[in-house]
Amino acid sequence: MSKKTVATAWLQGCSGCHISILDLHQELVELLGDIEILSSPLVDIKEFPRVDICLVEGAVGTEGDVRKLQELRQKSDVLVALGTCACFGGISGLRNLYKKDEVLEHCYTNVRNVNKNGTIPSSEDVPALLESVKPVGELAKIDYQIPGCPPLPGTIKTVLQALITGKEPVLPQRSLCAE
Ligand code: SF4
Repeated sequence: MSKKTVATAWLQGCSGCHISILDLHQELVELLGDIEILSSPLVDIKEFPRVDICLVEGAVGTEGDVRKLQELRQKSDVLVALGTCACFGGISGLRNLYKKDEVLEHCYTNVRNVNKNGTIPSSEDVPALLESVKPVGELAKIDYQIPGCPPLPGTIKTVLQALITGKEPVLPQRSLCAE
């Protein structure tokens, strides 16, 4: 059986979902017998190639995230939302309690030391914030979701193993909370 090509990517998250992948420890090494990771923030590969499976962490909060998500969807046969931020907005989505302008105003004029002259920076090089944070499924077709903040390592492994062998992933009954 040829190895499945895999990528992982992040949008607006805390990287905790990726730490959960690393928390597989020896089991991740064993998984590498069946998968080849072609792109991931874990290995700092910037180019995103075509892959069989992509796990995406984090919610969509900027125009840059939208472009990145579109590319991930276009180049991945199977796209998996990894973690509660990607699935539902999660911690990143807490920004939606306020209007975008209120958030920018607070961060750049009220919070000390962020910007000493009190102006909201704007540059073509900084992707603009969306009006609200969205789960990835609102902007792209998602094939599977692995909820959890962070998702349990064993759940990530279960889903990957199913996808590697062409089976339908079934989340374990206890997929959100550690015993
Ligand atoms: Fe971090 Fe939790 Fe969001 Fe994953 S789901 S990126 S662990 S806040």
